[in-house]
Amino acid sequence: MGCLDISPYKGLCGFWVSLFKWVPVLVISSVVAWSYYAYVVHLCILTVESDVEKALLLILYHVSVTLFLASYWRTVWTRPGDIPKRFRLTSDELDSVEGSESDEGQKRLLEQIVIDKDLPVAMRTIQGAVRYCEKCAMVKPDRAHHCSVCGSCVLKMDHHCPWVNNCVAFNNYKFFVLFLFYGLVYCIFIALSSLKYFILYWTHSVGGQVGHGKFHILFLFFVSSMFSISLCSLLGYHIHLSLNNRTTLEAFRAPVFRRGPDKEGFSLGKKANLAEVFGDDWWKFALPVFTSFGDGLTYPQRFSEDPEMGYGNGQQVSNSRQESNTQDLSKDDAVTLVVQA
Ligand code: ZN
Ligand code: ZN
Repeated sequence: MGCLDISPYKGLCGFWVSLFKWVPVLVISSVVAWSYYAYVVHLCILTVESDVEKALLLILYHVSVTLFLASYWRTVWTRPGDIPKRFRLTSDELDSVEGSESDEGQKRLLEQIVIDKDLPVAMRTIQGAVRYCEKCAMVKPDRAHHCSVCGSCVLKMDHHCPWVNNCVAFNNYKFFVLFLFYGLVYCIFIALSSLKYFILYWTHSVGGQVGHGKFHILFLFFVSSMFSISLCSLLGYHIHLSLNNRTTLEAFRAPVFRRGPDKEGFSLGKKANLAEVFGDDWWKFALPVFTSFGDGLTYPQRFSEDPEMGYGNGQQVSNSRQESNTQDLSKDDAVTLVVQA
């Protein structure tokens, strides 16, 4: 689960490295546990006097914390996207590919391998070759990249996030965006509902809580406001990426097809792009359940590529998901971005 069992580090040292990578998750969990105690006990139970206000705040708080933790939990514990075995090169194939005397020979060999194995890859390297990972000894499916932290290739890799100790990729990208969204809702709700008491305590015009209790509420406001700002910018960026059907890696380096690089290569229009990640059942849209389209291996493209008729024939692909029979490759891996939230 998570990255723990697919860590590239081995032995006792690897065990400690894997354990250390859980520290950010522990930090987030501790902050949420403290905020629960400060909000429920010190704000709602010991400070708020009106029973109606108390009940309302407690209900809304528990709804937001539940959705937030469920999204976070699923981002942390969902396998980000394993590559099927059929993409793996046999030792003979690997020897031939690695032993090729020229780039052109290697390119031809890889093209032959994807045809023989009937691998649906449309992307290519900038040199026009099928993308393959030397470390994993496999052909990379479209939009898959090698994560140097996890030590493996991951389907539709977005980035490796230390705050969830997991890759954010095809299987958990929706959960990650919801985690940012509900995290923001949680922080804004706490900041707004504690603002009145924050001002009262700050101006010393309320008795009630003394000592530690007062500081819990002051910190509650400060911490939730601070997190709101960073979550807002991060969520805004990922909504922008989702609307354009782009991963963080693709925002930095446009996907390359037979016809060349195309930053909008997978874009199908704003509504269809959102549906690719969130699905088309409106009531499941905001729930932390998997509703993304597809299998993570093939993706509909803006322009279809027909290997029989030449590529980039200019035919616009509509919202319908379409199997692609072309191939693809790359040598650009190990691009691991971390979230600086
Ligand atoms: Zn790899
Ligand atoms: Zn990773």
